[in-house]
Amino acid sequence: MEDCIAVIGAMDEEIAALSEGLDRLPPKGSSGLDLPIFKGRLHGQTIVVVRCRVGKVHAALATQYVIDHFHPTFIINSGVAGGISPNVRIGDLVLGTSSVQHDFDVRYFGYTRGAIPGLESSIFTADPRLLGLTMQAAASELSSDRIHQGLIVSGDQFISSQEQKQEILNFFPDAMCAEMEGAAIAQVSSANKVPHLIMRSISDQADNTAPQDFDQFLLDVIPVLNRVIHRLFILLQD
Ligand code: SAH
Repeated sequence: MEDCIAVIGAMDEEIAALSEGLDRLPPKGSSGLDLPIFKGRLHGQTIVVVRCRVGKVHAALATQYVIDHFHPTFIINSGVAGGISPNVRIGDLVLGTSSVQHDFDVRYFGYTRGAIPGLESSIFTADPRLLGLTMQAAASELSSDRIHQGLIVSGDQFISSQEQKQEILNFFPDAMCAEMEGAAIAQVSSANKVPHLIMRSISDQADNTAPQDFDQFLLDVIPVLNRVIHRLFILLQD
């Protein structure tokens, strides 16, 4: 099978522009899945774009599906997120050096918050080459103060209060942003030994105004993700 790069987005808005001009594929295998898949060429490479829906289980399902059916060389998760670090503002770009599931909590049995029993590490590391190239791609689109690298935290919660945000910071003081899919995609990718990267554009600051900010800024902050993906594909071609 030819090499391809998979891009997974949770919401239709996150994959709309990227999937334009690609072919929509009929469902393969277990057909009951609501998993739109688009395939085509982008700057000399085969790209497969998948819309997984919101949350860790949807994200995990889509990731395993795409690995089983398309054998991607890389998996990129592209989408929006709420800023957690005070330095991260709406419209900024966060590239995950690593990710963790902040809502995983079996501390009663002696684990730290986020630790998943049975795994050697519950912090999933991005592919360093993909991260470096994406940094380079991002530098052509945004000033350096709007690009951040660091820990991305994921959970099945829309973070929209100072209390929720503070709780995340108490357990994960290095967290840059919070979203609902990335670390699940990272866990499944890692389990299958497929390199991955999470890239997120900030739609809100995970505080009391997050619901309104999310609605207001969602469509404004997505295009930068697509521009960076285009530039990354051009770099990967060289
Ligand atoms: N409006 C959607 C639900 C969006 S949930 C619907 O009705 O179906 C928020 C989505 O954006 C998730 O995919 C998550 O990854 C991301 N996100 C953006 N801001 C977030 C925040 N503050 N907390 C958690 N996830 C956030």
